This record gives sequence, C-alpha cells and structure tokens, in this order.
Amino acid sequence: MYIYNSASRKKEEFIPYNEGKVTMYTCGPTVYHFAHIGNLRTYIMEDVLEKYLRFTGLDVKRVMNITDVGHLTSDGDTGDDKMLKGAKREHKTVMEIAKFYTDAFFTDCKKLNIKTPDVVEPATHCIDEFIRVITSLLEKGYAYEAGGNIYFDTSKLDKYYIFNDFEEDDLAVGVRDGVEADDNKRNKADFVLWFTKSKFEDQELKWDSPWGIGYPGWHIECSCISMKHLGEYLDLHCGGIDNQFPHHTNEIAQSEAYLGHPWCKYWFHVHHLNTGDGKMSKSKGEFLTVSLLEEKGYDPLVYRFFCLQSHYRKNLVFSWENLDNAKDAYEKLAARIVPLLGSKGAAADEVKVSNLLKGFTDALDGDLNTAQAVTAVYDVLKSDADMASKLAAVERIDSVLSIGLVSAAEKLAEKNEAPAELPAEVAALAEKRAAARKAKDFALADELRKQITDMGYIVEETRQGTVIRKA
Ligand code: AMP
Ligand code: ZN
Repeated sequence: MYIYNSASRKKEEFIPYNEGKVTMYTCGPTVYHFAHIGNLRTYIMEDVLEKYLRFTGLDVKRVMNITDVGHLTSDGDTGDDKMLKGAKREHKTVMEIAKFYTDAFFTDCKKLNIKTPDVVEPATHCIDEFIRVITSLLEKGYAYEAGGNIYFDTSKLDKYYIFNDFEEDDLAVGVRDGVEADDNKRNKADFVLWFTKSKFEDQELKWDSPWGIGYPGWHIECSCISMKHLGEYLDLHCGGIDNQFPHHTNEIAQSEAYLGHPWCKYWFHVHHLNTGDGKMSKSKGEFLTVSLLEEKGYDPLVYRFFCLQSHYRKNLVFSWENLDNAKDAYEKLAARIVPLLGSKGAAADEVKVSNLLKGFTDALDGDLNTAQAVTAVYDVLKSDADMASKLAAVERIDSVLSIGLVSAAEKLAEKNEAPAELPAEVAALAEKRAAARKAKDFALADELRKQITDMGYIVEETRQGTVIRKA
C-alpha cells in the first residue's frame, strides 16, 4: 500500500517497523461537547485505513486517547480550558462532562460503523506517566522551568518544524489566532509541558508534581499514551490536518527528545469538512451532529458514504444538497445489490472473488482512494461473474468501507417484497438470462424469462436493474 506521509510530503510504500505488525495511534476527541460531523469525517477515514490494513493481513494495534484535561481553546497554551468551559456551560463537574461526552462520542461512532480502537485511554489516567517523561526531559536539558510552568525548549532541536515551512514570525502575537504573549518562554515556539501557575483559579483537576500542584499541557498526553501502549517505535499516527501544528509538531519534538531516536514513521492527516461559510467548529455555537442528521431523517451511514466519495486529502464541503445526492446514490447502490441477495449462502468462486476485488484493492493501495473504492463496487455489480461471487466481493469490500450495503439491500428487499430468497433454480435462470442479455442473445433471454415466469415469478426491468419477485 502507498500512503501520503505528511512528514516527508510524498506518497510512500507503507512498511511498518516490524513485519506484519502495525502500531497505530489516533488523536482522540476533546470531550467537552458533542463531536461535530467534521471531527467524525476524520474518524471515518482513519477507520477505513485501520480496517484496510487489517484486510491486507496486517496485525494492527490501535490506541486512542481521550482528552479530558489540558486542551485550551487555542491549540497553543492560551485561552480557557475547554473542559472547564464545558463544565461551566452545563453546571456539571469536569468529570461528569467528560463521561457524558465520551459516551456520546462512542454512540456516534457506533452509528457510523467506526470500530472502537483496541485501547482507549483518558489523559487523566496517565498523570504519573506524564510526570515521568517531563522529569526526563528536564534532566536531558530539553525542558526548563519558568514562572512556575515547565516548558519544552524548541531551540534544543536541529529541526522543529516538520510538516510546514512555518516561519517563527508566524507565531508572533496577533499573527496567528489565539497566540498571546508569554514572557516565560525562551523561544516563541516553546510550549508548556506542565502548568502550575494556573491562570484559572477554579481549575478543577490538579495533581501534585515535583514542580508543584498543577496539570499537564495538551501535547504531552499523546506522546505518553502512545509510548505507554505502543512502545518506542510508532508506525502510523493519525489526526485531522489542524493537528499538524502545533500539536503533532510538538509531539514529535518531545517524543524524539525523550527517546533519543526517530519515533513515528508515517503521519496521516485528514483534511477538513467545511460548510459553505468556512470551517466547521464547535465554538461557532450551532454545529452539525450525528443526532441532527438523524432528526432530519438521514441514516448516519449515508453520511459515511458521503465522506467516502471524496479523497481524505481534499477539503470536503458539506451541504444538505450534497448529502441528498449521496443519499440518492446510496439507495440506488443498495437497490442494485437486492438481486444478489438470493445467492446468500451459496458458495462463491474464490478465484472470481479475488479478481472482482482487484479494483477495490488497487484503489485503497493508492493512498486510500475511497472514492475509487466506491466506484469499484459498481464495477463488481456490472461484471458478468455469478451472483454468489459478486455478493461475496461486495461483502468483503464492505467489511472495510462499512457502509452497510448488504443490510441496506435487505431492508429494501423487505420493503419492496423483493426476492430476498429466490430459490436456487430461479436465481440460476436469472443469472443465465442476465448473461444472455449482455451477449445480446435476446431470443435466449426471452426463453429464460418464460421459464422464470412459468415457475411463478415476475421479471421486471427497473432503473436499478432487474428485479425478480414472486407473482
Ligand atoms: P477535537 O475533539 O477538537 O480534539 O478534534 C477531534 C479530531 O477532529 C481531531 O483529529 C481534529 O483534527 C479533527 N477535526 C477538527 N475539525 C475538523 C473538521 N472541520 N473536519 C475534519 N476533522 C476535524
Ligand atoms: Zn493528539
């Protein structure tokens, strides 16, 4: 498989550190509010990546953090604590907020067929780990104490900016959003590892540390949680494109300074879902959630299908009209699978199935081209292979794309009383008839239609293809 590595800025063959095994880390949600469907685009694409790596036979261990402390309203070290903001908004404790929105996040994921990672670790469970790594960074001279906080010293690195050619001047106050002056920092790019001089007197969650009572910065959690569960060598790190800077840049700085060797091989970043008037954001007040989609009558899997129709390295514009188009295409696709349902349980021809899967694997091998992988489903349906092999191919593709194609087809079949359970003889005749039609042998096709109707079935040509049902 080839994948675009944001760190090298090129497509590279994916070769994990240890043959056959993949260590994969994902930045999890900040649980102060519901996830918006933009956040979920990122998790959908990461889910496809994980499932595809497994599909190719790799043994994946995936870890995700839950940010329940330390993420301020800017991605740097300024602004309010997002968790505290959520708690105040709802007159609850920070831990109540964290529990509620963590559960809500996984409920959304379930509706979108997003698999739960093998390990899910809240930041507040790993405070000792953070203190241990920060202590080591201080000992190694990569960190310093100033004004009560512990900072990472970016001037100690040969190369700090990994993903972008940021200029130090871009970090000047007033140039980037949310950058406030912090006179304690020796260099503009330095970042907080541990806060003790809390700006927030009502900061609820605080822990004792060698530097006084305080709480961790946001970036340290991902380095530590990844190393705790996945060891010193990480194959793949994922997140939304906004995580590149400063979050992932800082993760690399502190992890490699701590380890003394290169850390993560591949960086996978999903571009944003935007609305017509710009980036989707929770701070804008009203935002789009999975529940809102459901209230408006959309199956969450239609949203997943909508996401898959675009490449993860392109911004995607959300509009209700675009979602309606996806819904329409999804329903038509499911309808085309209905005629295959009759062959459920029948043996597939493995050689044919693997030929049918070629278009799909080519698509995902080429930097996870999900749009092309969706097209590959149509190609399977168009092929003249037998129904059982086609159905097996669709099922295997859907084990990765996870858009629920077969169950959507089954629901349609139920509603239309479509021939979910065609007897094998009828299905065989239908297949022969389809082949005859394809070969333009209409006399034979008519003869086969007659045989089917004689057996008590009706043959209909619809826009979605041939539908055969009991008379
Ligand atoms: P957060 O809960 O804010 O920490 O974000 C969770 C994930 O969603 C992170 O990987 C972000 O990079 C990603 N993300 C944030 N906004 C968007 C967006 N508009 N589109 C896609 N992904 C996003
Ligand atoms: Zn992270």
